[in-house]
Amino acid sequence: MSYESKIFKELSLPNRDEVIHVLLMSLLKRNGYIKEFGSGNQEFVNELADLLGLSIQQRSFLMQTIVKKEGRIKTFPAWHRLLFRAADTAAKENLLSHPKDTLKITGKREWMLTEKGCDEAFRLSKIPIVRKQELPIITYEVQKIKNSLEKAERIKNYNPVDTTKRTKITTRESLLRSRGFRQAIIQSYDYRCCICGLKIASPDNLTWEVEAAHIVPNRFYGKDDIWNGIALCHFHHWSFDVGWFTLRNDFTIEVNDRIEKIPREHGYMGNFDILRQSLKPNKSIVLPKKNSIFPHENAISWHRNNIFLHTK
Ligand SMILES: [Zn+2]
Repeated sequence: MSYESKIFKELSLPNRDEVIHVLLMSLLKRNGYIKEFGSGNQEFVNELADLLGLSIQQRSFLMQTIVKKEGRIKTFPAWHRLLFRAADTAAKENLLSHPKDTLKITGKREWMLTEKGCDEAFRLSKIPIVRKQELPIITYEVQKIKNSLEKAERIKNYNPVDTTKRTKITTRESLLRSRGFRQAIIQSYDYRCCICGLKIASPDNLTWEVEAAHIVPNRFYGKDDIWNGIALCHFHHWSFDVGWFTLRNDFTIEVNDRIEKIPREHGYMGNFDILRQSLKPNKSIVLPKKNSIFPHENAISWHRNNIFLHTK
């Protein structure tokens, strides 16, 4: 038995699989990623120790190892060593992306769930796997798709309608792409509705109220491209989909004239006239920082011609 294993055993520390399980479940609660453990991330390390019910002695026992390259003895908590070993094993089993690999796709040294690790975390947390499509979990695979959507070269004659989609069946790739689309949109718009600015997460921090809305909707085979999306709260998503408003090519809001004809008592939330007060004609939507990911004028024109003008 190695020196390390002997110490882990003497301290009755949990086994590696138990540590991997709490690690995966905790990553799921943090949307799939966490910065590398170390002196700067003690809060997360303590949280895992709490979940595993570690005693003070188990958390603080110091072990020594010889750093071969430098020929010196280094002292650090045995529990940290175990945690690192567990994360490393999880990365070898393709449950996590190692910080050196995540760095290449996020620019940050983070442990990140892979799709395989994410599925395992759902199983362990007893969350139905169908929720994977709606929860904002960023896995290694989703992050790669998100990157490709954000970095794609803007196309002048962009067609927001996917003409091949009519015959396509749902594949693992199309599900991943739709998650990548959603994350790319809501992050680009800082998790806010681009009309009213609402930004609110669920109490468990797992979901955001804001939705990634397709400008050319899914039912019309709108593409999962960043140029065919805007972030909208549930209410404004509905209002946009049914044609209460559209966008002009300069990203200002055009409101449906029928708003003047709706019954006086409609459109209120308590005393607040939410429909009329939040849809200010000619006001500009709040756009992302980079103009390369602004909504495409071809998608906007499609919405104006095919949804908005039909409902006037
Ligand atoms: Zn809104």
